[in-house]
Amino acid sequence: MDLIVVKFGGTSVGDGSRIKKAAQSVVNEYMKGNQVVVVVSAVNKTTDELLGLSNDAIGGNLTDKQKAEIMAMGELTSARLFSATIESLGVKSEFIDPYNDLWPIITDSNSLEAKIDFKTTNKKSDGIKNLVNQGIIPVICGFLGKGPSGEITTLGRGGSDISAFLMGHCLEANEIIIVTDVDGVMSTDPNKIEDAILLDEISVEEMRDLATHGAQVLHPHALRYKDPLITAKIINFAHGDLTAKGTRIVGPFEKDMLKSVSVHKNPISLIAIVGEGMLKKVGLLAKITNCLADNRINIFGISAGQNSITAFVDKQDSEKAYHILHNLVIETDVLSSLSLGTDTAMITVVSPDFTGETPGIISNITEPLRKNNINIVEISSSQTAVVLYVDWKDGEKAFNLVKGVLE
Ligand code: ADP
Ligand code: ASP
Ligand code: MG
Repeated sequence: MDLIVVKFGGTSVGDGSRIKKAAQSVVNEYMKGNQVVVVVSAVNKTTDELLGLSNDAIGGNLTDKQKAEIMAMGELTSARLFSATIESLGVKSEFIDPYNDLWPIITDSNSLEAKIDFKTTNKKSDGIKNLVNQGIIPVICGFLGKGPSGEITTLGRGGSDISAFLMGHCLEANEIIIVTDVDGVMSTDPNKIEDAILLDEISVEEMRDLATHGAQVLHPHALRYKDPLITAKIINFAHGDLTAKGTRIVGPFEKDMLKSVSVHKNPISLIAIVGEGMLKKVGLLAKITNCLADNRINIFGISAGQNSITAFVDKQDSEKAYHILHNLVIETDVLSSLSLGTDTAMITVVSPDFTGETPGIISNITEPLRKNNINIVEISSSQTAVVLYVDWKDGEKAFNLVKGVLE
């Protein structure tokens, strides 16, 4: 007997027949002897509609608390509807909303991006387990939390995915199933490029990076509750079958995917190539990278400016890369000269704080380096990582300073 947590997204409960189909798929698993906990989103675009309505009526005077209360109506409704539909199919079900004593998901008082109190939530999840053990199918409102004064909070847009993974973790489920309006995770958003193909599986790390960069298919914060023992998949509601294949999300969520600082074990050499107006020359970057690739030299990073391009390679490859690129400079009109820089330590910093609007995050990392007179040779940043290059001799000190910032 398996315990399955299944989350239905807005489209998968988009009308009466879809709700019935979804409820039937849950009942089918139950009839096989499995235990099922349902997490449900608001029907279709209800959340957007509620927000639109309140903006039209109240505009800027709407408080975050009011906004959360109003948006919550979407999930308050869908959970009731879903639970009643299960009951109509002959199986006992109970909807669980934040007004219910059994409500498990406890948060801080942030109304719109509430932070989960994991310890309390974990403890309160026993109540849900008791229901399940009595043969009842709980239907939990996705997206919602309960703040310190018993008020409704929300986990951020698209947050039902977080609710599902959180419940899966706390209930020690065997499987988490995300039911949505696409076949699974694809090579890109199939609504943007039709030819996108389905992936059989994706690692937790890749999924996290994809989600952080805007692929809506799963909320990036959901994965932090992905336990190694729990299997997880994303499937299409159209199957009406929870055993459908879709995309498996494999591997555990490593704590250091959330926050980590690491140094590449070897020095990294910087090779800077200069030339007039390089940035406007089509294909130049490809020429440089192809030239290194043809000689099996790995590139750790690349940065491009108006009149220069810098390639980052492992020190042991640097002499070879230097000579190869020198030949390229001689052959290529627009390129005039290159230089092999000093050895650097490559420090990679990963933190969820890089996502979203967090002004000042980079200066928090670089400030202690400035105070300690450590020169940053290069820096690059993305939504999930900041990579710093400092003189090799400063590497260890810089690593410890940056680590101190993150703790
Ligand atoms: P739900 O309401 O079920 O949570 P979402 O709209 O939040 O569904 O997420 C599903 C959507 O994610 C798809 O309709 C698709 O447009 C989008 N999406 C973006 N990137 C991808 C991708 N790589 N693979 C699949 N879907 C993607
Ligand atoms: N209904 C919420 C939203 O639209 C949460 C979710 O669908 O995951 O953002
Ligand atoms: Mg979603």
